[in-house]
Amino acid sequence: MLGKLIKKIFGSRNDRLIKKMMLTVDKINALEEGIAALSDEALKGKTDDFRSRLESGEELDILLPEVFAVVREASKRVLDMRHFDVQLIGGMALHQGKIAEMKTGEGKTLVATLAVYLNALPGHGVHVVTVNDYLASRDAEWMGRLYDFLGLKTGVIVAGQDATEKQAAYACDIVYGTNNEFGFDYLRDNMAFRLEDKMQRDLHFAVVDEVDSILIDEARTPLVISGPADDAGDLYTQVNQLVPALTRQEKREEKAEGEDEYGAGDYNVDEEHKQIHLSEDGHQHVEDLLMDEGLLGEGESLYDATNLGLMHHVMASLRAHVLFHKDVDYIVQDQQIVIVDEFTGRTMPGRRWSEGLHQALEAKEGLQIQSENQTLASITFQNYFRLYKKLSGMTGTADTEAYEFQQIYGLEVLVIPTHQGMNRTDHGDLVYLTTEEKFQAIKDDVKDCQQRGQPVLVGTASIETSELLSGLLQKDGVKHEVLNAKQHEREAHIVAQAGAPGAITIATNMAGRGTDIVLGGSLDEELKGAGEISAEQESAIRDAWQQRHNLVLEKGGLHIIGTERHESRRVDNQLRGRSGRQGDVGSSRFYLSLNDNLMRIFASDRMSGLMQKLGMEEGEAIEHPWVTKAIENAQRKVEAQNFGIRKSLLEFDDVANDQRRVVYTRRNELMAADDVSDVVDVMRTDVLTHLINNFIPPGSLDEMWDVAGLEQAIEQDFAQPMPIQQWLDEDDNLHEETLRNKILDEVVNAYKDKETQAGSDVVRHFEKSVMLQVLDGSWKEHLAAMDYLRQGIHLRSYAQKNPKQEYKKESFEMFTDLLERIKHEVVGIISKVQVRAEEDVQAMEQRRTKQTPMSFRHADFNNPETTKIHDPDAEDAEDTGDHSPFVRQNKKVGRNHPCPCGSGKKYKQCHGKLS
Ligand code: ADP
Repeated sequence: MLGKLIKKIFGSRNDRLIKKMMLTVDKINALEEGIAALSDEALKGKTDDFRSRLESGEELDILLPEVFAVVREASKRVLDMRHFDVQLIGGMALHQGKIAEMKTGEGKTLVATLAVYLNALPGHGVHVVTVNDYLASRDAEWMGRLYDFLGLKTGVIVAGQDATEKQAAYACDIVYGTNNEFGFDYLRDNMAFRLEDKMQRDLHFAVVDEVDSILIDEARTPLVISGPADDAGDLYTQVNQLVPALTRQEKREEKAEGEDEYGAGDYNVDEEHKQIHLSEDGHQHVEDLLMDEGLLGEGESLYDATNLGLMHHVMASLRAHVLFHKDVDYIVQDQQIVIVDEFTGRTMPGRRWSEGLHQALEAKEGLQIQSENQTLASITFQNYFRLYKKLSGMTGTADTEAYEFQQIYGLEVLVIPTHQGMNRTDHGDLVYLTTEEKFQAIKDDVKDCQQRGQPVLVGTASIETSELLSGLLQKDGVKHEVLNAKQHEREAHIVAQAGAPGAITIATNMAGRGTDIVLGGSLDEELKGAGEISAEQESAIRDAWQQRHNLVLEKGGLHIIGTERHESRRVDNQLRGRSGRQGDVGSSRFYLSLNDNLMRIFASDRMSGLMQKLGMEEGEAIEHPWVTKAIENAQRKVEAQNFGIRKSLLEFDDVANDQRRVVYTRRNELMAADDVSDVVDVMRTDVLTHLINNFIPPGSLDEMWDVAGLEQAIEQDFAQPMPIQQWLDEDDNLHEETLRNKILDEVVNAYKDKETQAGSDVVRHFEKSVMLQVLDGSWKEHLAAMDYLRQGIHLRSYAQKNPKQEYKKESFEMFTDLLERIKHEVVGIISKVQVRAEEDVQAMEQRRTKQTPMSFRHADFNNPETTKIHDPDAEDAEDTGDHSPFVRQNKKVGRNHPCPCGSGKKYKQCHGKLS
């Protein structure tokens, strides 16, 4: 209440910011006349002028009004578009490192040019990030003309370019490319073998187009570069055959006192969190099945450390069978599983789900099982984009996720007013009891639009629904187009014509589809299609288009139908936003039924109650603000949950991120240095001191020394025989300290001899090569171990340990071990390996820099916090009634053994009982 009142009196923060920016818009407009009077040459000369003013200390913020006026003038001359005032505001928001929320059709591509040019002036490069290669190339070509006029170079990066092409593109003032390509290039750069192979410069400023798609939808799937690892194809097939024998537990409608939430069966499904849990019976059943197949030894348990891999296969296969559906989550194309993006409905060829899910699906569909991959490098988009010194973004739909943008990226969302007023009517949701009634109503609405000549766009949440509706329309002989994952070659054409009179277009989600829906159909496309034509012919085409355009306006513009509410309000807004662009008329309506997923899982109880209260009867629909509110609440709930998942992913990646930074920095330093002998010296002293301490504990009596052991260890680790006992026998003055120094001197002298023989240059090169090789190899192993740790950490939830804390603690320990291991390995190799000439080092370098086949993908992140498999070792607090909770310390207890709490019951029936 109070908040509303304050807003009314003082205006919202958004209003105030816009108002302030309007003052700058006035300044820019005041400059227009003077700048318009400049010749082309003088206008182009402005770039040098700005750059020298920057050099003499003037700030970008001070230059902004004049720079924007120059870009606007150049755009008028080159692109025939004059930035609208609201577009100038959008440009300022980007420059300030904010997210500019601007509706579809407001011209965001043009908006970006203002901030991009301004921030490219210092010469450190600006990245413009798009959702696909097509848009990157299109925008670079289109806007590149403007930058080129002003003397700036534009580059594009796309998948498949070689390193030289990429380097050339990154050297440009402005670089267009997709989020994936930028992210992968960063990882690739950090796997480069030499500094000169690196492609990217420092990450200075990025403008992210469709920022919500990239920083939110895609943020759940980290970028991963991987290479082949061990094969386990047969196991997937074997486990796949067992899984159908397992039965699902149904949720009880009503739960009697003391009764489980679920009925009998092997596993239950938590649809809300997309998780599967094995029941105790199921666990036993799985073990029996595996034993019958000979996959599990007699008396072994699935939870034995050695069998964790098997458990992993069973769970992957269960998920594949129960949670992932063909033609919804994936399609089968050319004998391959192709993922369908949950948000855009597009297929993502070449991407694989991780953690064995993809292989399990291949087994389920009877396809050839591709070999498993090992992670070589990975990063989340969150952590990649946070590397930029300044980040900004634009999209039609950011406001609902403003909190997340602020929390994770420190990005503020600024809602920019539209150029023209908004003339779309958004009708309230219509809710039906059953799916059949809902689709009948949708069909009626669609047919009505077509008969009246109004174009209609129907948005569905899955390919399945698209096809269902398409089938219904086909039955009635209604002509329509379907836009889904299977047909994206024709996509641009279909979208371009979706605004023609009476056009019916059915589409899965519309995010990032790029092309605008123009009322009356696309004039551009028609003119392009006509080829070489006379002026009269062109004018006839234009007139005909104008008539169609007017007709559609008369009929109410583009009508949007949603066949269900998406989990996220943002995706619904993306669909709606396709109508009513640039002040056009339009309308929208969502049709729902109580059987829709969202309603079933999140809103069913409340909704049925509401329905009854409102007195709804079969066959009729209900439209009421309460209903809309209830649905919105359900959506908020899912959004919050998804935010939780992304945040958790980030918390896990943050741990890896710190380590990644340390390793990447050290790697860069190593590559930049010609002489790393200082580092090697320190390492050698460290390793040797540590070794000596093991046999001659500091401050110990002579009797406690193990001289023979030390001699052996030094011989083994340094390949150097050392008669220590003899020295001691011959020289009474040798004590702990002097002996230590003597040993060290001997090792150093032997190394110096090696250097004299081979030459200093050769040895320096050798040291550097070894350091890099060891660092890369150990880091790779460490990543695999971290992967494994992350996947298994939820099993730690026994003994009330917090998996995240455990993960942090343990990965820190692993990292410290890694650094120690690197030291030992480097010193070991350097002391033991013989190099005589540069050729030896070259041969080593060749091995080090040998390219292994790599694949680039998005990983499906399985939230370790929610992927809890029931652990037999987990204590069951509720069941402990008459005895105090027992926490297992170290020893593992067999499930059929007596419970260590002393109750006399079998462990599985007492503290080992599954919840
Ligand atoms: P958005 O990405 O915001 O949906 P686009 O950048 O695709 O919008 O632009 C939509 C259309 O509006 C394009 O055809 C573009 O040429 C046109 N447009 C944008 N800004 C202007 C302008 N200032 N003057 C004239 N046309 C413009």
